[in-house]
Amino acid sequence: MDVKQVMRDYFTDLGAAAADPARKVAWCTSVGPAEILRALGFEVYFPENHGALLGATRASADTIPVANAAGYSPEICSYLTSDIGACIKGSTPLTRSYGLAEAPRPDVLVYCTNQCKDVMHWFAWYARRWQVPLLGIHPPTHLPEVTAEHIADVAAQYRRLIGQLEAIAGRRLDPQALEQALARSRQATDLWAQVLHTARARPAPLSFFDGTIHMGPIVVLRGTEVAIDYYRALLADLRAKVEAGAGAVPGERLRIYWEGMPVWGRLRHLSELFARNRAAVVASTYCNSWIFADFDPADPLPSMARAYLSIFINRDDDWKQRYIERLVEEFAIDGVLFHAARTCPNNSNSSYGLPRRLSARGIPSIVVDGDLCDLRCFSDEQSTTLIEAFLETL
Ligand code: SF4
Repeated sequence: MDVKQVMRDYFTDLGAAAADPARKVAWCTSVGPAEILRALGFEVYFPENHGALLGATRASADTIPVANAAGYSPEICSYLTSDIGACIKGSTPLTRSYGLAEAPRPDVLVYCTNQCKDVMHWFAWYARRWQVPLLGIHPPTHLPEVTAEHIADVAAQYRRLIGQLEAIAGRRLDPQALEQALARSRQATDLWAQVLHTARARPAPLSFFDGTIHMGPIVVLRGTEVAIDYYRALLADLRAKVEAGAGAVPGERLRIYWEGMPVWGRLRHLSELFARNRAAVVASTYCNSWIFADFDPADPLPSMARAYLSIFINRDDDWKQRYIERLVEEFAIDGVLFHAARTCPNNSNSSYGLPRRLSARGIPSIVVDGDLCDLRCFSDEQSTTLIEAFLETL
C-alpha cells in the first residue's frame, strides 16, 4: 500500500464529509480521544497533521507571519501559527495535494491538553471564528506515575464529553462501537510499534525520517481498518528488508536517537546529512508517541485514559530519562540528538539538564536548535557543523 494513496483517500473522504450535511466532522488533537469520536460516527480531522504539512511544504514561511500579525506570537507553537495563518490567508497545501479548497469545516472541536495548552488556544480560535462548539479534556500533566485517581479523573471527563458529543452527533454512543474502534486502534498501534521495532536490526531497515512519513495513518486513521492494513503490509515489507540485510542507510556505521520534534521543512536535508555520514537515526520519541499499548477494548474509557495520560510528553523528566535509556539500550544507540524546537518547549527536553544526566550515564548527546515549522529558527550551516562534529566523536 502506498502511504500517499492512503492519505489521499482519507482527505478526499473528509472533503466529501464536510460537504455533506448528513455527515459530521470533528477536529481532534493528535493524541486526543479519537476513538470516542469515531464510535459516534464523526469523521476526524487532525490540525496538527495540517501544521506538519504546512511545515514540510514550507508554506509556513508565508502563513506564520499572517498569524503573528493577527496577534499570535512568533514564540508560540508554529503548528498553530502556520495553521491559523493559512486559514486567514485562505490557502492550504490540501488543495494542491488532495483537491480540497480548504480544511474540512468542523461540527465540533475536541482537544486534550495532555500534550500542551497551545492546542486549547488553537482550537479556541476556530471556535470563535466559526461559532463551533469547543470541548476539552484537561488531564493531570507531567506525571511521575499514572495513578488510579488520574485515570478516574480522565475517564469521568470522557463520560461528560460523550454526553456533549451525543447532542452534536444526534445519536447515543453504542458501547460496542467504542469497543470496536478501540480494538482497531490497538491493533494498528501494535503494528506501528512492530514497524518501529524493526529498526533494532543492524542495519536498520527504516530511519526516523522514513518514520515521519509512515506515521501519517497512525495519527489520522487510528480506529479504522485502513490503518491496520497499511501497517500490516509495511511490517511485512520491512521484515523482508531485515531478512535481506537491506539498511535504510547504506554502510550504517552509527545509530542515533532523535529526541523532540522533526524539522519538517528540512527532513530531506537532514536525512541526507546523516546518510552521508553513514549514521542511521533508528529511534525517536516522536514516532513512538503513537504507541498506545494500554488500549483495552474490554475496559474502554479507563484504558484510554491510561494510554493518553501515559504518553512521553505528559511525564516528568525522571520518567523521560529512564525511557530514553531503555531505548538507547534496545536499539543499540551510539548518541542522542536533542532537537530544541524554539516554538515547542513542550516537546523539547534539553532545557532542564537531561542531556547532562544522560552523559553522566555514558550516553553522549548534542542539542540542535531549530523548530518544527519556523525555519527562521534553524540554520543549515550551524546544524550541519554541529551534527558532523558530534558524529565524528562517536
Ligand atoms: S506539543 Fe508542541 S508542536 Fe504539538 S501542538 Fe503543542 S506546542 Fe505545538
